[in-house]
Amino acid sequence: MSQTYLNPTLTQELDGLLVQQAMAMIQPARRIAILAHERPDGDCLGSALGLAHMLDQLGKYCVPVCADVVPPSFHFLPGHERFQTTLGDEQFDLVIALDAGELYRFGALAEQHRDFLTHVPILNMDHHVSSTGCGQVNIIDTSSAATAELLVLFQQQAHLPLTGEAAQCLLTGMITDTGSFQYSNTSARTMESAAVTIRAGANAETTVKPLFRTHPLAKLRLQAEVFKQAQTACEGQLIWSYADDATLITAGATADMDDSCVGTLRDVEGVVVAAFFKAYGEPQTTRISLRTYEPFDAAAFCMRLGGGGHPRAAGATVNRPLAEAMPEIVAQLAEECQRLASLDATDTTHS
Ligand code: 5GP
Ligand code: MN
Repeated sequence: MSQTYLNPTLTQELDGLLVQQAMAMIQPARRIAILAHERPDGDCLGSALGLAHMLDQLGKYCVPVCADVVPPSFHFLPGHERFQTTLGDEQFDLVIALDAGELYRFGALAEQHRDFLTHVPILNMDHHVSSTGCGQVNIIDTSSAATAELLVLFQQQAHLPLTGEAAQCLLTGMITDTGSFQYSNTSARTMESAAVTIRAGANAETTVKPLFRTHPLAKLRLQAEVFKQAQTACEGQLIWSYADDATLITAGATADMDDSCVGTLRDVEGVVVAAFFKAYGEPQTTRISLRTYEPFDAAAFCMRLGGGGHPRAAGATVNRPLAEAMPEIVAQLAEECQRLASLDATDTTHS
């Protein structure tokens, strides 16, 4: 087994008892399913594969599982072909659930394997403020910018072997959840965790080029449609747009190509909250993605809709058609913008 670099500033960041309890679940397990949440992103995919590569080194049989197939833009992740979309014959003695703290976030997996998941031991590792914890042992660290950062801390503290493949996967999780280290969640510790992965053989461009620089033309056409449909309110503090099946057809695009739309809407000058609504396939279901700047709390807003996330990025799914859900949620967003603006005005009067 290769020698793994330890950074002394990272070896005691997590609750030591929880790390011990997590290792006590992992050590006796032989067959481990590692779950990534539905509609996967770089953090859940990179974390699940990264942990699988590390636990392979301990002689475990690991299967990364995600209800949805891995989007082609993530095919640079070493081992992506290992992902399964179901738990198959359920022959696992441990489930490790990553990057979400509620079983419903694992989508169809949670429904298809409901009975199994109520009996099997579950270890949950996540970084969302809205997480309730869905395991017997839950390591929820909201100061980690990504679940992948939490896993580097876990690797450092439990002295797990970090291979180059694992490192590339974990670096990907940190890059995607921090917007390439540009968001306010990027801490010195995030950078130090990323440095650990680069020392172990990861390379930033291997992740950044396929994810952020190389796009199919259809993705640009989808963005063009979405931005053309954008509307604003509250003097430009609120911006929103949408995509549905018709938008995808017009652009010749697929649903996974909409991932950067909400971030670009947020980058419009003067915006405090950006909302992106989508309704694909199921006409009775609308997904909302929010991106905000202080003081707008995206997680609190989405939790009221039955979803969750982080203060600056959150989401929810509502069981209503787009044409009904969008105007209603936009009205609620405008109300919250006005409430925050009035608080701000009060503050200035008193200062
Ligand atoms: P996105 O807008 O990229 O889908 O999600 C933004 C953030 O909110 C992500 O960290 C994601 O995990 C979280 N999130 C999105 N949708 C939901 C949801 O329905 N429930 C919860 N708890 N979190 C969500
Ligand atoms: Mn994450």
